[in-house]
Amino acid sequence: MNKSLKINETRKEVYSRDDYTCQHPDCDVMGWDNLQLAHSIRQGQEVFIQAFWLQEFDECISKKRATEILNSPENLTTACSKHNSYFDCTFRPEDVKRILRRIHENKNT
Ligand SMILES: [Zn+2]
Repeated sequence: MNKSLKINETRKEVYSRDDYTCQHPDCDVMGWDNLQLAHSIRQGQEVFIQAFWLQEFDECISKKRATEILNSPENLTTACSKHNSYFDCTFRPEDVKRILRRIHENKNT
């Protein structure tokens, strides 16, 4: 599958899980054209993910795999453009660990 198709698949999966609605508690923006995928752990954190995987799961992963992890549905939330950054938890270590452990768990079940 090429890259943009894969992204569209993920987009559909996350939007449908979130009922095609921005997940900010005080927002009801809806619809494909008004929504975006918000990353909980920011894009560009591949080196951090690789280090975490090694330390936590004793597993050496590629940068490509780390990018896939960042683009997992577990790391994505449906948001409108105004609330995209609301879901960013890159600098909240406990949230980051929780998300990464959940992704690891789901990949191994
Ligand atoms: Zn919103």
